[in-house]
Amino acid sequence: MINQIEQNYVPPKYGSRRFNCPSCSAFSGQKWFEGLNSFDVIYLEPSLREVTGEEDQFIHIVNGHYNDNVFAISFCISCEKPSFWIEGKLVYPQRSSVPFPHSDMPEEIKKLYNEARSIVTMSPRASVAILRLAVEKILPLLGAKKGKINDMIGELVGKGLPHRIQMALDSLRVIGNEAVHPGKIDLDGIDGKETAVALFGVLNFVVEKMLTEPREIEDIYSLLPDSTKKGIDERDNKALTKQ
Ligand SMILES: [Zn+2]
Repeated sequence: MINQIEQNYVPPKYGSRRFNCPSCSAFSGQKWFEGLNSFDVIYLEPSLREVTGEEDQFIHIVNGHYNDNVFAISFCISCEKPSFWIEGKLVYPQRSSVPFPHSDMPEEIKKLYNEARSIVTMSPRASVAILRLAVEKILPLLGAKKGKINDMIGELVGKGLPHRIQMALDSLRVIGNEAVHPGKIDLDGIDGKETAVALFGVLNFVVEKMLTEPREIEDIYSLLPDSTKKGIDERDNKALTKQ
């Protein structure tokens, strides 16, 4: 599913009417404005000046639009957040190397994930702190009683949480704690950014293993005839009473 999203990804392009929004990642329509300078006053034009072909000179053109403005703004119709463009280049929000949130990620968690994703270039530490919050919110959705992150992971381990998922959740927990109370792990240097970027993948991994895969298996299993499933239940009950 993650690969499918990446294949359909349409990168932001100056003047394009639709692309994957760098803020919310949705494939969404864009409303354009450009800031022009006149008599030292900046005013906003509610569109971009398109090249018609009748001009004498073609200068400062990107993707069929003039870009000799002070700045241009595209507003995402989906999340209504602005992206800023200077000389036809996207300057904010910066496109990050962080993957999109898993399509099965619950909405509340996805919101935090995208918020963390939008600031990872500027502050890996802040993005890791938000990811820690996302872990705190996702654990009750995976079956833990609300509480401290450490206790919730422990509870899930008691219920048979696979070892690799425990490692993933504890990595997010421990590095997340470092972001809030700085200690031994450096989150400010280049390595810090790499660590932060890796943690996004770890959270997607948890969603894939804990939400997507069980659902896919249940979907397939539901296709079995009821009489067969009844037979399987009887077999298992017999095996359990023998123990
Ligand atoms: Zn958006």
